[in-house]
Amino acid sequence: MTTSADLTTAGVRRAAQARPLIAEADLPPARHFVDGAFVEGSTERVIDVVDPSSEAVIARIPEGTAEDVDRAVAAAVAAKNEWAGRLPRERSELLHAIADRLVENTELFSRLESANTGKPLAVSTDDVGQAVDTFRFMAGAVRATTSLAAGDYAENHLSVILREPLGVIGVITPWNYPLLMAVWKIAPILAAGNTLVIKPSEQTPLTTLKFAELVADLLPPGVLNVVNGYGSPVGARLAEHPDLNMIALTGSVNSGRAVARAAADTLKRVHLELGGKAPVVVFPDADLTAAASALRVAGFWNSGQECGAACRVLVHESVAERFVGQLVGEVQALVVGEPQAGEDVEVGPMVSKAHFDRVTGYLERAKKDGVRVATGGGALDGPGYFVAPTVLVDVPEGAEAAREEIFGPVITVETFTDEDEAVRRANDVPLGLSASVWTENARRSHDIAARLDFGTVWVNSHLVLASEVPWGGFKGSGYGRDLSIYALDDYSRTKHVMHNHER
Ligand code: NAD
Repeated sequence: MTTSADLTTAGVRRAAQARPLIAEADLPPARHFVDGAFVEGSTERVIDVVDPSSEAVIARIPEGTAEDVDRAVAAAVAAKNEWAGRLPRERSELLHAIADRLVENTELFSRLESANTGKPLAVSTDDVGQAVDTFRFMAGAVRATTSLAAGDYAENHLSVILREPLGVIGVITPWNYPLLMAVWKIAPILAAGNTLVIKPSEQTPLTTLKFAELVADLLPPGVLNVVNGYGSPVGARLAEHPDLNMIALTGSVNSGRAVARAAADTLKRVHLELGGKAPVVVFPDADLTAAASALRVAGFWNSGQECGAACRVLVHESVAERFVGQLVGEVQALVVGEPQAGEDVEVGPMVSKAHFDRVTGYLERAKKDGVRVATGGGALDGPGYFVAPTVLVDVPEGAEAAREEIFGPVITVETFTDEDEAVRRANDVPLGLSASVWTENARRSHDIAARLDFGTVWVNSHLVLASEVPWGGFKGSGYGRDLSIYALDDYSRTKHVMHNHER
């Protein structure tokens, strides 16, 4: 495959004057949040929180311990019966009040999130909007739950199905959407009548702590608790804790494995939203212009640090050259910059130096393996962990770049010759979170969507989500569903009560 595209990439757009995104007063208390109050940790050790656009340390949070977790779990256990006993209407009203609080503080949350992750303000503002909608949806859904109709299913025995909360849930969240991934857990967990202890990513704790601060007066003490710290020991203690009824993690496959192993001894439920490597299958009858323009967003939203990112194109060989030309045109037009540099910035830095090294390492190895760079291909000038929006072509079947989750602004392009090959190769990855099919043929769109082994399949679209529909994966992407009524189900248990009423 050839393309006339050259290797030019945009530089990093900087704000004209150094304007800090946040002031000291915007920061949440740098402590754990336990039993309705911010508390000191059991040690003096701290973790630096870094702005990835400038590499400056913007806060220091306490490094939590197993002891800190135990204290938070005890508070959540003490709060659970009162919270579980509230009527769905009462919990629903509270969730709406939380949503209102988020709306009132949208601008603050957006700035904090962008300062901590480097993501463009357009992305962080969208995150807050989605967080609000998640609370509103769960507030409504919990009042409309259904179960099997009560009735006699055995002679003279009346069966009633009760939906109960699980109890206390441990939650571990990643750095890519710190506020939104927390809310995807918190909203259904609270709606279903559970209490929780959440550990945000050690890299991005600020909006989770701010959330706790701003809803502290709305929730009874102990219902929501936040413990800061590293995966081990804080996440590991949550996963093994005997008093928790479930551990829910959004994160990498490796963390998912560790959590599931640690949870096994207590046989607590496990809910895992793990990595993705979404194929984008483009047939010759597709609207190529629409597909290329959609990939500009779906491949590079949140700088490609997105588990559903459209990162692996499989395009029919007959239209590959034309499609790559269009895609490269879109990618070269992306505006890369720090969040303060304008509302039109589309791509920010990688979240950390370690992740920047990981992404650029994938690019270096791909180049060594003979993969061709159609645009981008490496780091952009610092300060900040910026990587050029990249399209890799001539990617052979099975190449590392096309199989592993790079989690950066990188799209790989492979070609196929027929439908069966497209399906086989799209499915030939260990992850199964999401995929898309691009075709104007109705038979093909239904058939291919049914044969793709992914939890979400879009047709002529990619990365469009809604609170009403489930999000979650198959295979190595984990199990359990976020969003929708299915999340409420995951955070509830059903109890069958049977009454003998024989006269
Ligand atoms: P990560 O697995 O490194 O960290 C996620 C969380 O797990 C962090 O809070 C971390 O401290 C904690 N953790 C790490 N090791 C642990 C252990 N042994 N026990 C308990 N907790 C542990 O992931 P990340 O780098 O923060 O996030 C990126 C990953 O998250 C990507 O793989 C991405 O695909 C995935 N992700 C998935 C979804 C989804 O909906 N499926 C959404 C967002 C991100």
